[in-house]
Amino acid sequence: MSYKYKNEKIVYKRLKQYPDLYNYSRFQSAKRITASVIWYGFWFFTYYIYFFSSQKRLIVEKPVSLVLVSISIVVILMPFNIFKVHKIITDRSYDGIIKDVKQKYKIKVLVPGGSYLSNLKEQECLSIITEDDLGKLHDYIYWEKDDINNQAYFKKGAKVTHYKEFKYLHNIDREEGEQLCVVCGQFVINDRDTCARCKHSFIK
Ligand SMILES: [Zn+2]
Repeated sequence: MSYKYKNEKIVYKRLKQYPDLYNYSRFQSAKRITASVIWYGFWFFTYYIYFFSSQKRLIVEKPVSLVLVSISIVVILMPFNIFKVHKIITDRSYDGIIKDVKQKYKIKVLVPGGSYLSNLKEQECLSIITEDDLGKLHDYIYWEKDDINNQAYFKKGAKVTHYKEFKYLHNIDREEGEQLCVVCGQFVINDRDTCARCKHSFIK
């Protein structure tokens, strides 16, 4: 594993105290790579069969060729969109501070059932903006009700750590006894060692 920043290595190594979390992080990265390899492999195989087994030429008529180009773009970009494969390189562990906690309202989310226009309603989300040790800003957006309700746990100016591949921030400046699972976001007020929901370790 390569590190882009010197602090990143130190921060990430802290996770080694919690083997389950350390393995979880590595497993997530491995999953992204595997899913992308399978995806590209499948399409390579499909194109290979199409172009070689059927003896067809690569040069096809114009309208078809446009379709082919469109499909190819979707095929190439899909792992970046769905599997977030670029996170393997761009996501990094850091110690930072919370710059802002905002409740955002995203308008016009279509709710299934009923007529079209009457079901366009506002959907709220929680946005936590952090600043890492290099002064770069990161925006974490949460849509689930439980996450939005937990916003009081994250206060402006609090020290936090983001560990690579984890959805939730580790809050260093939390109140005594408070815990938030970095894997599933379960919030508890007691001093447990592991999360009751996902069984992963709580970071001390
Ligand atoms: Zn959990």
